[in-house]
Amino acid sequence: MTSPAADSAAVTIGVLALQGDVREHIGALAGSGARTRTVRQAADLDGLDGLVIPGGESTTMSILAVRDRLLEPLRDFAGSGRPCFGSCAGLIFLADHVADGRADQQTMGGLDVTALRNAFGRQVDSFETDLPVPVLGTEPFPAVFIRAPAITEVGPQVEVLASLEDKIVAVRQDSLLATAFHPELTDDSRFHRYFVGMVAAHRGAGPESIVRERA
Ligand code: GLN
Repeated sequence: MTSPAADSAAVTIGVLALQGDVREHIGALAGSGARTRTVRQAADLDGLDGLVIPGGESTTMSILAVRDRLLEPLRDFAGSGRPCFGSCAGLIFLADHVADGRADQQTMGGLDVTALRNAFGRQVDSFETDLPVPVLGTEPFPAVFIRAPAITEVGPQVEVLASLEDKIVAVRQDSLLATAFHPELTDDSRFHRYFVGMVAAHRGAGPESIVRERA
């Protein structure tokens, strides 16, 4: 049996490298069969098939993206339909609305959700839990939450992939994927493989179902 990742060995996925856990995403993507590149300026987006926005600090990411004139190029990139995957602060950066961001906090947006920063409280800074994510199979996902956001509102196009108690923590909207937790900090590569499959389907060759059938 061929895995989706093996089908997509030729895709090139960038990781936004303004700050945050860039190296971990690079490792997880490479382990899932993608070529990788760090993205620090608009020109680095040229020729990419998909983009990952890592965890870190969403307010810092906003300041650096404005400073480096990356917001519009990033919006154009996502607007072209090429898949983007944001984890934790990356989810906030993809969100159209931030409930409690700084007044001047900018996001690249595209994901029709409202993100609430630090939604799990400051006293519990981080925790790991076995999270059911049906789209990845029956085995729960070892989800690492670090000062994590949650999604409090979703638009009609948004598919909820996982919730923890009453909080939405993973979503997909067409070519945009976002998790409130950090798949890049675990050995479980299913989220990265799922994303590589999205990228391969978009670039290659038609509907994702074809990639799934071939897998
Ligand atoms: N709380 C951080 C923020 O608001 C996100 C934390 C993380 O990415 N681990 O940006």
